[in-house]
Amino acid sequence: MRRIYLDHNATTPLHPEALKAMLPLLERNFGNASSIHYFGREARAALDDARERFANLLGAKPGEIVFTSGGTEADNHAIIGAARAFAGRGRHIIVSSIEHHAVLHAAGYLQKRDGFEVTLLPVGHDGVLPPDDVCRAIRPDTVLVSVMWANNETGTLQPVRDIGGICRERGVLFHTDAVQAFGKAPVSVRDFPVDLLSVSAHKIYGPKGAGALWIRPRLKIDSLVHGGAHENERRAGTENAAGIAGFVRAAEAVVPTIATEDARLRALTERLWQGLDGRIEGVVRNGHATQRVANTLNVSFPGCTSDTLLMSLDLEGVAVSSGSACAVGSLKPSPVLVAMGLGSELANAAVRFSLGASTTAEDVGAVIEIMPPIINRLRSFQGAGQLVRQ
Ligand code: PLP
Repeated sequence: MRRIYLDHNATTPLHPEALKAMLPLLERNFGNASSIHYFGREARAALDDARERFANLLGAKPGEIVFTSGGTEADNHAIIGAARAFAGRGRHIIVSSIEHHAVLHAAGYLQKRDGFEVTLLPVGHDGVLPPDDVCRAIRPDTVLVSVMWANNETGTLQPVRDIGGICRERGVLFHTDAVQAFGKAPVSVRDFPVDLLSVSAHKIYGPKGAGALWIRPRLKIDSLVHGGAHENERRAGTENAAGIAGFVRAAEAVVPTIATEDARLRALTERLWQGLDGRIEGVVRNGHATQRVANTLNVSFPGCTSDTLLMSLDLEGVAVSSGSACAVGSLKPSPVLVAMGLGSELANAAVRFSLGASTTAEDVGAVIEIMPPIINRLRSFQGAGQLVRQ
C-alpha cells in the first residue's frame, strides 16, 4: 500500500546527513565529553563544534545555548527556571491559551506548587494573539510572558516581535516556544526582543530526545536538573553528544531551504485546501490562512469526528493527526481550536495535515481523491446514528 506521511508536526524522519553525523559518536567516539582522555576529548570536540554551529544558525553565542532532551524540557526549564529566579519581583506569569502542554502544564505547576498566578490569554478566531492584549494583561508583579512562535495544530504564526517588544518595554521576561517555527520560518535571536527560546530536534529532521534552550546573555534562571557542572552549570547530566550532533547537522541542512520549502509547501497546502473545499461540502479551514508556517493545514469536516477520520485515513495509508500528538487517545476536543472559539462540533471534527520535505504534489493529489468517499461514508453513519437517537 502506498503510505503518505502528513504528520510532520508530530515528528519528522531523520535526515540522512544527521544520521551520518551521529554514527561516529555512537560507534567510535563514544566517550563521555567530561572525560579527559582521547575518547572524552573527541566527544567534547564534537559537542563544542555543534554548539558553535547551532549558535551561528540562531544568531547567538555558543555560551548562550543549553542543550536539552527536547522541546518539553526546554519549555519547562524556561518557564519554571525563570519564574523561580524572579519570584522575588512578583508571582504573575502570562501565557497564551494555545500553548503546547509543555508550557501550559509548566505554568499550571507553578500555580499549584509555587503560588504563582497565571493569566491565560485567549486568541482571536484566526488563532492570533493580539499584542495589545498582552500589554493590557501585564501587571506590576508580572515576571514572565510566554507566547509560541508558531502553533503546532494550525501553524498560525504569532506576532512575537511585537509581543517581545512590549515585554522589553515593560521590563518583563519573554519566552517563545519556537519548536514549530524553527526550520520552517526564519528564527533568529539577533536583534530580536526575546529572552528565552525553545527548539526541538525531531521536528526538523533531527533525532528524538535532543533540543535546546537559548538563554539571553547574563540572564540567570534556576536549573531544573541538578548534578554535575554540564552545560555551563545550567543543566546537569552527561551530554547526548550523538543526538546533539544529529540535531545540529539537521538544522544546518534545513535552515538554508526555508525560503524554497516555504514556497513549495505553501503551494501544496493551498492546493490541498482548494481540492478539499471544492469536493467536500461544509469544510472549514482553521487558523490564519496566510500568517502561518507553510506546511500546516488544519481543516474541520462537520458531520465527522477526528478520531474516525484519522482511523479511516490510516486504513488508506495516510498518516495525519487531529492536533497535538500528546492529546491523542483523549476524546476531548482540541483545546487550541476551542480557544479559537470553535464550537465542539467543529473542534471535534478537525484534521491536521502537516507536510514535509518528502511530500510531493502526487501525495497531495492522492489525498484529495481519498478524502471525499471517506467523508461521505462517515457522514452517512453519523446521519444514521442521529436518526436512531431521535
Ligand atoms: N512545543 C511545541 C509547539 C510542540 O509542537 C512540541 C511537540 O509536539 C513540543 C513543544 C515538545 O517538544 P518535544 O517533543 O521535543 O519534547
